Amino acid sequence: MLRENIERILREYPSAKNEPFSGHALAHFLRHDFPKDLESLVDNPNRYKFTGSAGQGTWANCPWVAVFDILVTESAQSGYYPVYLFQENMKGVYLSLNQGVTEIREKYKDNPKHVLKIRASDFRAQIGPSLEEFQDTPINLAISSTSELAAFYEVGNIYAQYYNSDNLPSEDQLISNFRDMLRLYELLSYNENIPTASSVREQDEPYISKGTEDLRKLREHKRIERNVKLSKAAKKNHGYTCQACGFNFAKFYGLLGEEFIEAHHLTPISELKGQRVTLDPVHDFAVLCSNCHSMIHRFEKPEDIEAFKRILRQRNIN
Ligand SMILES: [Zn+2]
Ligand SMILES: [Zn+2]
Repeated sequence: MLRENIERILREYPSAKNEPFSGHALAHFLRHDFPKDLESLVDNPNRYKFTGSAGQGTWANCPWVAVFDILVTESAQSGYYPVYLFQENMKGVYLSLNQGVTEIREKYKDNPKHVLKIRASDFRAQIGPSLEEFQDTPINLAISSTSELAAFYEVGNIYAQYYNSDNLPSEDQLISNFRDMLRLYELLSYNENIPTASSVREQDEPYISKGTEDLRKLREHKRIERNVKLSKAAKKNHGYTCQACGFNFAKFYGLLGEEFIEAHHLTPISELKGQRVTLDPVHDFAVLCSNCHSMIHRFEKPEDIEAFKRILRQRNIN
């Protein structure tokens, strides 16, 4: 189905571009069906967001379908993500680990292409040696004008694989490449959290003695908790009263404390690794007051709320 989807875009896009954009079936296919099919290929769909585009209001020269790790980015404009990028001449398509170029163009007005190139090589260095199947040089989207948005994606390429329309690989091969690409994505997102001396903070203290790996996992834990969508959903579900000590910010601080609580992710720090972490706002999160949240991270098993509560109970009895 992946192969069929790619074939369909390569075959139908050139003529579709001559037809009205609004309500066109192929644009709908790129936005909905293609991403849905990709979603069916991953084990942990709640970690990812799948989306595609044939343009906004008018046909794009290079349509795309992308996968966002929600802890890295939720839009094509920022962060980095794997994307199927179709060449303008529809001679082929790249599966590219690429960057959100909009944000870079806004931030680095003078020479965003230069910045994208530097960042791409930095991301490659963070991934380490890649699989041979991936190309680490700028890609060629066969664009008709260098001012196009697609020109930025050409230099934004971190790793890519090219599929020629005359010689598309088998369905199994495409799926296997897609999964390899997700592994690269996972690796980059994970390695990005490697702590450097200057980034160590006082709150990291309980983990420093355990070594870099635990500190890195703490970063991952905090990144999950910082995700606005997940923590909002967790709070909405668990309410605003600390599940360890019963503290309620609104009761204590009045209006100022209304709807304030911290979301705490419950996967053991030792098991945090990329896409295998489940991110269910109901089962994988608890809500804690700021004190309990700090204290539970000094505790040897931050995921064990019950054991933490036992400590609190013992304290209250004595
Ligand atoms: Zn508390
Ligand atoms: Zn936490």
